[in-house]
Amino acid sequence: MEGRASPTLLDVFSAVDTRASAFLDELMDLVRQPSISSQGIGVAECAQLLLGTMSRSGLSARLLPTHGYPVVFGERHVGNDRPTLLVYGHYDVQPVDPLDAWDSPPFEPVIRDGRIWGRGSSDNKGQHLAQLLAMRTYLYVAGELPINVKVILEGEEESSSPHLAAFVEANAETLRADLVYTSDGPIHESGRATVVLGVRGILYVELRARGANTDVHSGNRGGVVPNPAWTLVDVLHSLRRPDGTVAIDGFYDGVRPIGPLERAALDALPVDVDEFLRGYGLSRLPPPDDWGFFERLMLQPTLNVSGFSSGYGGPGMKTIIPSTATAKLDMRLVADQDPEHVFRCLVEHVRARAPDVEVVRIGAMEPSRTPLDHAYVKLIAEAVAQAHDGQPPLIVPALGGSLPDYVFTRILGLPSILVPYANADQRNHAPNENFAVERFTRGIKTFAAVMEALAR
Ligand SMILES: [Zn+2]
Repeated sequence: MEGRASPTLLDVFSAVDTRASAFLDELMDLVRQPSISSQGIGVAECAQLLLGTMSRSGLSARLLPTHGYPVVFGERHVGNDRPTLLVYGHYDVQPVDPLDAWDSPPFEPVIRDGRIWGRGSSDNKGQHLAQLLAMRTYLYVAGELPINVKVILEGEEESSSPHLAAFVEANAETLRADLVYTSDGPIHESGRATVVLGVRGILYVELRARGANTDVHSGNRGGVVPNPAWTLVDVLHSLRRPDGTVAIDGFYDGVRPIGPLERAALDALPVDVDEFLRGYGLSRLPPPDDWGFFERLMLQPTLNVSGFSSGYGGPGMKTIIPSTATAKLDMRLVADQDPEHVFRCLVEHVRARAPDVEVVRIGAMEPSRTPLDHAYVKLIAEAVAQAHDGQPPLIVPALGGSLPDYVFTRILGLPSILVPYANADQRNHAPNENFAVERFTRGIKTFAAVMEALAR
């Protein structure tokens, strides 16, 4: 029976329940070890700790160097006739400030109200530990894993993974696999598990306009000195059509058409748009009017003005013609847009209208998407259901935000599926980060079911 858990898997589930408190202790040990990549605190020590965790879980483990903190790599080869799953996670954590907003110290984990509280408990130590503990339990119950596994735990994700792409390129042979699997972030607010197939990319730029070499009196020089704020406003205006679509030639190049499968997946996602709007004190969604809520959020690119600064913004009057104006723009890109191509199109657009405005590229990350009808999607969804009392997960075509998933889909050319384990109120990146104990054990069971599903 395809959708039903095998006797082995049921044994694994009950072994996970038996060991739940020992597994929690192991998570507490990991949380106790600070690993703040952006501040260089404890990261190398945490990598060492994870080598032991991997070995105890039946993997042969070693550190693989990058140009920054090392990747903790583990693998177990079962047979050439079995599929190979590449698991990604990150062992670094966010800084903890403001410290006085924590109910208990961030690196002294405690269990309270059915949750483990501490920095890194859910982002991401508890989530990748769940995969390792699933392997350990499966080995204990069945004597061998049903598939080949490789695990990479990155130490710089919270510093925006500056060396991950180069690492993946350099180690493509070592990382050879059939599918990439990541658990990070929260499940749906409704409590339903999700299977996520992609992320939007991003292109971040700054537009800089200059006027006179100094701010000048807007009366004494008004009418004879040009204002760079107007120059920028005109440029910004030209970037968007009245219907809300982006007016940069070539911007939409590569955008994957939304097919019937995607439409059906978007339609199946629950949302109360009125309640959403009320929550933000809004009365309507932005244009274009004919785009659905999740289409906007997942499968359409955006062009956003993140910031605009020029002249005087303080109280009362200051009558000047400012000497500079700056706008910061972020574009959320969807598969298969290319950030470099979009940047060139934007530069072209601005040069044709305001040649003196400088376009500065601040950062970029490519989008990523695994097709909804990929054979692995159904298997993973079935496995997730098995670990959730038969309740099928929501299928999410793409997250609105950006993660470096493209290193797997574009550089390695692999399908990549994300199955978040954390509770929706995990407070990742914030004080009082936590991981519901029940979600932790579900995560362990989910990964056990995933391994078994892929063996079919
Ligand atoms: Zn994070």
